[in-house]
Amino acid sequence: MVEPIKKTTQAQRETALRAAGFNTFLLRSEDVYIDLLTDSGTSAMSDWQWAGLMLGDEAYAGSKNFYHLEEAVHKHYGYKHLIPTHQGRGAEHILSQIMISPGDTVPGNMYFTTTRYHQEHAGAQFADVIIDEAHDPTSPHLFKGDIDLGKLERVLKTAKHVPYLCVAATVNMAGGQPISMKNLKAVRELCSRHGVPIMMDATRAVENAWFIKTREAGYADKSCAEILREFCSYTDGCTMSGKKDALVNIGGWLSLNDDKLAEKARNMVVIYEGLHTYGGMAGRDMEAMARGIEESVQDEHMRARVGQVEYLGELLQSYGVPVVVPIGGHAVYLDARRFYPGMPQDNFPAQMLAAELYLDAGVRVMERGVVSAGRDAKTGKHHYPKLELVRLTIPRRVYTQAHMDVVAESVVAVHDRAEKPKGLRMTYEPEYLRFFQARFEPI
Ligand SMILES: *Cc1c(COP(=O)(O)O)cnc(C)c1O
Repeated sequence: MVEPIKKTTQAQRETALRAAGFNTFLLRSEDVYIDLLTDSGTSAMSDWQWAGLMLGDEAYAGSKNFYHLEEAVHKHYGYKHLIPTHQGRGAEHILSQIMISPGDTVPGNMYFTTTRYHQEHAGAQFADVIIDEAHDPTSPHLFKGDIDLGKLERVLKTAKHVPYLCVAATVNMAGGQPISMKNLKAVRELCSRHGVPIMMDATRAVENAWFIKTREAGYADKSCAEILREFCSYTDGCTMSGKKDALVNIGGWLSLNDDKLAEKARNMVVIYEGLHTYGGMAGRDMEAMARGIEESVQDEHMRARVGQVEYLGELLQSYGVPVVVPIGGHAVYLDARRFYPGMPQDNFPAQMLAAELYLDAGVRVMERGVVSAGRDAKTGKHHYPKLELVRLTIPRRVYTQAHMDVVAESVVAVHDRAEKPKGLRMTYEPEYLRFFQARFEPI
């Protein structure tokens, strides 16, 4: 698939940014030159996936594409039951509703926006059990997604009830950082002793497998596919956004090993998503995702994918731009605190930086800081995360090295004038997941 991209003038970008309330989510894609907002659903499908779209079996029930998808998930992720959903949050909603009761605590290796929302919406409190290094953008720890066993044990011992542990691989909000096999094995042992199941947020588990292959002792000679299977075997189920690793524009699923839980989930999916053999997807979309899974676990694909992200990250580091290290799997994260050292977090430094990058060359990126963190449900105060980041997310199989060079030049230009912007003031704040639709004006 080849798509033209459009250059804009500085004046056009200023108008567009004002109209969007300085929120990159509210820009029109037409006004964007290079779109690094997200890797979600923005990847390019292959010839084999496009061919699969033509083989959609749009029967209401029992579509053959569902069975292809079930086979692919079973082969590469290994779970017993597959419940398709329209995307990741559909699966999170169902999992949270069937497993969480009010007053529960759900520990996790850092939070993700929609995941935590659904846990809290079901009455749970989220407890962060990730290692401290994950909150330090300068720590070179190779597996910053690892869980702190001490923190986890404290939650398991003191919380009234823990329905499950939520393990994300990789950890998006920490900078796309992986969790090691060694850590997950130890976590499995601890959870088993307490009778607590592990549910994985498997959105980028294949990228996580690539990091295990390239960084963890004993895995260099194993394939991504083998590593993924082993990794999943230490968990009891997963929620999945097919829009990331699985190389499709829409789709997701919930996987479970437990028969009773799967039955509950199938009862719920028909209310919120669709019949249990399509879950909100067309037959052709399920076929594209089945094929995307097959392609996503190929070592050569992962080498190119993660390699391109590393290329941009290393280029920015060579120019002295403050980025989160190590470079993550799907994105390069700029450290807005070090980018704008004097700017208070109340002035939304990461949101400001995202706006500046759009103004400079039409590159669209995303805030992952105090705006994304939202407010505490009880006190109503902002969550002030240690990490105040801007994410440059690379879609899979879309851009070339030349595009990465343009992005790097623009980041450097914005870095060179970092003393100018004073920050933003929020003028409109939505009630839920505010980062999507909030509006700002410059201070
Ligand atoms: C995108 C994402 C989700 C939610 O998936 P959607 O398909 O966007 O609903 C959940 N967890 C992580 C880590 C994600 O990146």
